Amino acid sequence: MISVPFLDLRVTDPEERSDLIEALTKVLDHGRIMLGPEVAELERRVAEYIGRSYAAGTGSGTDSLVLAWRALGIGPGDEVITTPLSFIATANAIRLNGAMPVFADIDDDLNLDPATIETMITPKTKAIVPVHWAGKVCRMEEIMAIAERHNLIVVEDASQSFGASRHGRKAGSFGKIGCFSMNSMKTFGSLGEAGMIVTDDAALREKLEALRYNGLVNREFCHLVSHNGRLDTVQAAFLLKRLDRYATLLAKRQETSDYYDHALGNVVRVPRREKDCVDVAYTYQIQCDRRDELQAYLSQQGIETKVQHKPLMPHQKAYQDCRHACPNAERLIERTLCLPVSEKVAPAQRESVAKHVRAFFGA
Ligand SMILES: *Cc1c(COP(=O)(O)O)cnc(C)c1O
Repeated sequence: MISVPFLDLRVTDPEERSDLIEALTKVLDHGRIMLGPEVAELERRVAEYIGRSYAAGTGSGTDSLVLAWRALGIGPGDEVITTPLSFIATANAIRLNGAMPVFADIDDDLNLDPATIETMITPKTKAIVPVHWAGKVCRMEEIMAIAERHNLIVVEDASQSFGASRHGRKAGSFGKIGCFSMNSMKTFGSLGEAGMIVTDDAALREKLEALRYNGLVNREFCHLVSHNGRLDTVQAAFLLKRLDRYATLLAKRQETSDYYDHALGNVVRVPRREKDCVDVAYTYQIQCDRRDELQAYLSQQGIETKVQHKPLMPHQKAYQDCRHACPNAERLIERTLCLPVSEKVAPAQRESVAKHVRAFFGA
């Protein structure tokens, strides 16, 4: 039996390991631990990579989202429209600022369906937060057009899509603000917790820089109430090394993803690929009947899979009071399964995954 873990966060490549140790050693030598030079360098390089004027490092993806809504002044009495299918931080960040999330529906590609957004708009609606799910950019031209028509702010949750693009524009480059998580599980991941916010608005960037450290201006003066959500210098140093290797990492994931597309395309529904769009294979989500049975069967074969994320956000206990209309998400969350697609999945492992999925469906 070839066992296939879903993720393996050990650093096994000797070259990468020595690069990371070198990065840590540099920080130990210079000793500028709080918002050190690596943070500024990573911000500069991420802004350039995404195609934005500014980036501000944060403590996590959750921090990025919380600080974005705080900087934009979205709070009590406001509603923000989002997808029902995301990691719960997307909704928590809205709620932590006192605003209410409202859940529209997803399309069969698992991303927010632009057609369902307009049906949820009320006079209280202030913003839309598209989540670029599973490494695929949402239909942003339609979402931006709706936002413009109704004078709404767009904040992108691009946590799962660092480097993905649509018609030549990267995830995080469409809205007023783009938010990223760089926790270890993401494709562009640190060795712990980290996040980043990108924007083209200089005033917003300045505000975000104050908000990420207790609202302090010039280290002493508090104009706005906030918490500590700074990016750690050691994590920034690791991330700089990982950015150098990022294209290689994505290519490995892409290879497994392409393999599954071909091997499984006639037995289950595989991710929809669109012309002139680059997906990053954060997860590889198939859609099929008998999902739970398939998951149990694969588990018996040593193959670890995940359902992301059930319950849907509007079905969570903490969100029972939020408006939602998402029949398609309710149908699809019973049909999706994430197969192992990390850069550590070897050819023999992906062949085993495909073989067993095909066998389960009698193909
Ligand atoms: C991971 C993730 C977050 C939260 O990021 P953290 O760094 O864990 O706080 C938010 N939104 C989405 C879509 C995510 O996948």
